[in-house]
Amino acid sequence: MAKKHYLFTPGPTPVPPEVSLAEAAPLIHHRTPEFSKILADVSEGLKHLFQTEEGEVLTLTSSGTGAMEACVVNLLSRKDTALVVRGGKFGERWAELCRAYGVKTTCIDVEYGCAVEPEAVETALKKDKRIKAVFITHCETSTGVQNDTETIANIVRGYPALLIVDAITAVGVSPFFMDKWQVDVAVTSSQKGLMMPPGLALAAVRPTAQDKIKKADLPRYYWDFRAMHDALKRGTTPFTPAISLIMALKAALEIIKEEGLEDIWQRHSRLAHATRESVKALGLELFARQPCDILTAVKVPDGIDGVAFTKNLRDKYGVSIAGGQAELKGKIFRVAHVGYMNDFDIITAVSAIEKGLHDGGYPVEAGKGVATAQRILMDDKK
Ligand SMILES: *Cc1c(COP(=O)(O)O)cnc(C)c1O
Repeated sequence: MAKKHYLFTPGPTPVPPEVSLAEAAPLIHHRTPEFSKILADVSEGLKHLFQTEEGEVLTLTSSGTGAMEACVVNLLSRKDTALVVRGGKFGERWAELCRAYGVKTTCIDVEYGCAVEPEAVETALKKDKRIKAVFITHCETSTGVQNDTETIANIVRGYPALLIVDAITAVGVSPFFMDKWQVDVAVTSSQKGLMMPPGLALAAVRPTAQDKIKKADLPRYYWDFRAMHDALKRGTTPFTPAISLIMALKAALEIIKEEGLEDIWQRHSRLAHATRESVKALGLELFARQPCDILTAVKVPDGIDGVAFTKNLRDKYGVSIAGGQAELKGKIFRVAHVGYMNDFDIITAVSAIEKGLHDGGYPVEAGKGVATAQRILMDDKK
């Protein structure tokens, strides 16, 4: 039989058929009333997704990193200092981006697997009054950690600095309140909670960031938020947008609206809980001390080759999970339960982990993890 594929990676994530079909629809031109209507609908849906009424959400043709770079070039000037919370690969990316543009960057280094102590942000802001922007990662996908964005936002509000949040694996997955928390700018991308193929990035910008956007003096052209804002007001985009992906986004937002954001958050929380308990039932240890609901990062047990483990699952069973990145390579594996996923996906993922561990010589009582997941998912109906 041809190999059947299962995607349990934290991006890309499975795409519902309605979304794929919307993407496959015949192309329309983007300088038309038809497209403007789609863009308007999408904009409304996106504002709801970010929980913002004050802000605007800009659509960028890129993966998530493009939106991160856009934040740097639109919000900083050459003489500014940026503060970056660095507790994994994605926090590091903020620092690399700031440095690539020659911005002086101070980092708060957080032990991998831990969330940042919000007080550390306060201490840094107190110490250096030149800090103009604070960059954080809501869910650090490389370690499976969730940071306390709400508390950090409360702190940053007391200082003349903007808060920019990488919410790429948070928006549409777990509670994220842009207006209520007063986050100035937040970004996400299509291939995570939005259940779409990669290729679109989104930047939600509250009016509090506009002044800085006007004055920022780093070089920018394709990523210029001013041009995007002006175009959006006219119902369009500055350049040719990823038309098909925007049509897919419309379909994805409809699916999200139908389920309802709160139910979506609740579903991810249940699936995450079931996954965490089942790997623990197999005798494994979680890597993240403050785990997020998007993925579960698990320490590879002694005696198992972590790299071979994920490779075996992919090659032998068609099951893709993620390994560790950089220093964590071979030391952890990461199972995603984000987006288009339900109870049976968790059963499949846990079953695959059992098989993979067994193949690697780790003692597994067949079905122990699966039974744990099943019990949780049966008891905890919603
Ligand atoms: C996926 C992801 C990104 C963006 O990565 P791209 O490959 O550029 O889409 C950024 N931050 C986090 C936390 C992510 O999970």
